[in-house]
Amino acid sequence: MIGIVAVSHSLQLAEAAVSLALQMVPTAAPRVLVAAGAGVEKDGSPIVGTDATRVAAAIDALADTDGVLVLMDLGSAVLSAELALELTTSSVEVRLSSAPFVEGLLAAVVRASGGAALAEVAAEAESALLSKSGQLGEQAAAAPEASVSGAERLVAVAVLTNPLGLHVRPAALVATAVRTADVTIRATRTGAVANAASPTALLALGARRGDQIEISAAPAARSELDRILALVADGFGELDAAQPEPAPSPTAAPARPVGVSPGRAVGPVVHLGSTVEEPARGRALAEGARVAEVARLRAAATRVAGELETRAAAARGEARSILMATALMARDPALLDPAVAAIADRGTAAPRAVWDAAAEVAQTLEALGGRIAERTADVRDVRDRIVAVLTGQVLGGVPERADPFVLVARDLAPADTATLDPATVVALVTEEGGPTSHTAIIARSLGIPAVVAATGALGIPEGTVVLVDGATGEVRRDPDAATVAAVAAEAAAARPARLAAPGATRDGHPVALLANIGDARGATAAAEAGAEGVGLFRSEFLFLDRTDAPGRAEQVEAYRAVFAAFPERKVVVRTLDAGADKPLPFLTADAEENPALGVRGLRTARRRPEVLDEQLAAIAEAAAAETAQVQVMAPMVATLEEAREVVARCRAVGLESAGIMIETPAAAIRADDLLAAVDFVSIGTNDLTQYTMAADRMIGELADLNDPWQPAVLQLIADVGAASQRTGTPVGVCGEAAADPLLAVVFVGLGVGSLSMTPRALSAVGEVLASVSRADCVRIAAAALAASTAADARAATASALGAISLG
Ligand code: PEP
Ligand code: MG
Repeated sequence: MIGIVAVSHSLQLAEAAVSLALQMVPTAAPRVLVAAGAGVEKDGSPIVGTDATRVAAAIDALADTDGVLVLMDLGSAVLSAELALELTTSSVEVRLSSAPFVEGLLAAVVRASGGAALAEVAAEAESALLSKSGQLGEQAAAAPEASVSGAERLVAVAVLTNPLGLHVRPAALVATAVRTADVTIRATRTGAVANAASPTALLALGARRGDQIEISAAPAARSELDRILALVADGFGELDAAQPEPAPSPTAAPARPVGVSPGRAVGPVVHLGSTVEEPARGRALAEGARVAEVARLRAAATRVAGELETRAAAARGEARSILMATALMARDPALLDPAVAAIADRGTAAPRAVWDAAAEVAQTLEALGGRIAERTADVRDVRDRIVAVLTGQVLGGVPERADPFVLVARDLAPADTATLDPATVVALVTEEGGPTSHTAIIARSLGIPAVVAATGALGIPEGTVVLVDGATGEVRRDPDAATVAAVAAEAAAARPARLAAPGATRDGHPVALLANIGDARGATAAAEAGAEGVGLFRSEFLFLDRTDAPGRAEQVEAYRAVFAAFPERKVVVRTLDAGADKPLPFLTADAEENPALGVRGLRTARRRPEVLDEQLAAIAEAAAAETAQVQVMAPMVATLEEAREVVARCRAVGLESAGIMIETPAAAIRADDLLAAVDFVSIGTNDLTQYTMAADRMIGELADLNDPWQPAVLQLIADVGAASQRTGTPVGVCGEAAADPLLAVVFVGLGVGSLSMTPRALSAVGEVLASVSRADCVRIAAAALAASTAADARAATASALGAISLG
């Protein structure tokens, strides 16, 4: 952090200004030294003036900082500061600032407390008058920099430059950046003000491209304000993106069905299950029951947000950000605050309270029309989910079918769409929705042909075979045989390639290429994609919606279905990885301050060892009934004692191969000890990266940190690889990184013997491995490891591989 020297003619003035500035940053304040006055008279009274030696001494006292900013009041203070530069003995970088003394000091202290560099702090201090002059009309306050407005709030003004303005994705980005901080945003065109933590309130601002927004933050929310400014300046990452096609606005007056996701498919119609019932008004709750009802509402909303976040974690790309945005709505104060007030003030029951609050939010969004109005489907979806939890209703959801079908619905919630399996849901047809509805966006990202605004589609009886053309919007009943054959040929051509041969380097060094799956359907698809086995069976995915622990028989049946897809092949079952982004209501704590660092994974067995033992017994029973080579591993292991415990519990039920995931830096650093205690390990690069880089994997904004190419992460993986060579304990990788062909080569060079990934990636990874020798892998890994940054590591690997393929 930088240091600051306040040079003033008056000690009292300097001390008062410094004290005022420091009040802005109760924690992490920079060091601020005062060099004021020119000594004291014989009678002790201060001599007004400045003294260069005092200024130099103050600078030298800050020699160990990252730079010193000197702020001066007037006249000779400037001369003294200039002279002081010749008197200092330290080599610390010093900048004399022309900023106004009081405003500049406040701005500099606040900015420096956020860890900003000397130049940034200086620039901040120098623009500290903008807010005041803008307010007094002397200058348009257009600079996208924050300034201190009075002593209470920071205010910044910025202009929206992204094509769609403050639509749902930017709103979610802003709300995520702000979380619980005290930040408001005012749309200067309309004067409307929104709590920046509320995505729906932000949407309701209706701020468009070219509109000016004014961001006002409590001093402690300085970094949040800066983040918003950075997002706006970056156009929310949308400046270069291809824009959605012009909206024909079918929600307003659907003249005819609209194709919103291209591709053709044929299949029998299946209708979407029922939705939640509108809760009755009922009688007012007694005063004494209201606090508990509020708590019930909050718990239900938290659970829904958690479930949506879980789905988001399992989704990719656009589907992921849309689901995260929907999850934010479940925590949105614009939805929850009025509902809480209705319960507390009028005794409304929680289901009705959230129903009414959602109606108000939906009405506000609807009134804005266009794309914003299409977000009402998301609000209703969140409402239905909360009401379903509160009333114990089961949401219809997407029907489970083994055979492919065309899903027909009034509308689809993004959360339903995001989890659709393109292998079974071959096309979507909805009566409502528009081309920019989230359902349409997600359908496009999943490559599922989709048609919206197909009025009357629910009138097509279930089982009727239809042709859906997601480009033209055609939905044709009973297509002729020639059309059906043509569509089947198109689908076959589009299917991802199957893994051609078992994984191996060019010179025959075997590298097992395995699949990550979550259920039997995934296992079947993985087998079809040519996976040599399963390297990660995320068993918790089977039980995400459960409020009670699954029984033994139910588990045995589910595990057998997975094992049956890989006879004689390896299947690694991970024990329930509950917690953090995958809460299991029957196992995890309701609220933790830092769930990713909380009681998750193996740690849940501290409280509920019987759940782990029951699962292990069920796995053993299922394994005994099938021929798959079943191995078991536990997630979130950090110590040798935990590793030993896993092995002991597995052995106790007769499971022969017991391993652990390496997901914590602690486990990687102590790899020699841990590997010696288990039969195998699998590196979970997703978590290993988030914990090594201390960067929440759910926060897109930290993607540059959540990068497995980061040197610190590669180093830990190298350490585990080396421990594997020393102990003879096999090591695999089962995080997303294993699906990156470049990283796959690096991992093999670091001693990794198996790679487990989404089945789609198998053939690409197999192809790259077959093009290199094991020695190439070792050489490339060494180059990646020697790089100082993630970008350099990636570039070194890419260029080494490029040279091999050219040569
Ligand atoms: C990982 O952390 O890399 C991993 C494979 O586990 P999950 O993504 O399920 O946490
Ligand atoms: Mg993990």
